[in-house]
Amino acid sequence: MELKLYNLAYPVTALGPGRRVAVWVAGCPLRCKGCITPHLLSSDAGKSIAVSQLAQRLLRLAVPLDGVTLTGGEPFAQAEALATLLRLVKAERPHWNVLTFSGFTLRQWRRGDTTQRQLLQQIDVLVDGPYVAGRPGRHPLTASANQQLHLLTPRAQTLKPALDALPVNSANLGLSPRGEDCLIGIVDPDARRRLHRGLRLTVPDLEQTTESGGRPHADFY
Ligand code: SF4
Repeated sequence: MELKLYNLAYPVTALGPGRRVAVWVAGCPLRCKGCITPHLLSSDAGKSIAVSQLAQRLLRLAVPLDGVTLTGGEPFAQAEALATLLRLVKAERPHWNVLTFSGFTLRQWRRGDTTQRQLLQQIDVLVDGPYVAGRPGRHPLTASANQQLHLLTPRAQTLKPALDALPVNSANLGLSPRGEDCLIGIVDPDARRRLHRGLRLTVPDLEQTTESGGRPHADFY
């Protein structure tokens, strides 16, 4: 079984509590206006990797981690592969919690097909809903006001204080698969522009707001 993977980063602190490995899958059927990851909406943007190989890669990471964040793209568009990945990883790292972003709603996934419900069963915290530009999020992990945080498991309930204490507009830096700098996190447009300017990063749709001569980069959450 294979997964269309776009990128991995670790340790990431801007996409959930503690130190995490973030997994970006390629491909999303939605087209939210203002999506900050247009470069990975096509599943062709990613590379195919065997799920067992990716699981081994995650288990070999040589830094202590608290959990995994699944994002993209749309994780539920590859539900079977991700459900298998989580089964393999959690067998060896039962203390890892799982946080997932989805452009669809929890209600939709509860009525999803068997593999989508199997993936849902393995998720502790789901941040759901499409991105709606111009409606700022009300939680550090939501990009727009329609999105909600769902604590789906008893473990998620224990994470609530840490989730609520996450800083607003927190970001990490990483590298994209093309070797560009990447800004990782749920950062509102004004704060993103400030970060782009401060770090001299240039992203195509914000070129008019960034200094010339900056380094090309991609934004991710
Ligand atoms: S659901 Fe997320 S990845 Fe998909 S189009 Fe909307 S913002 Fe972009």
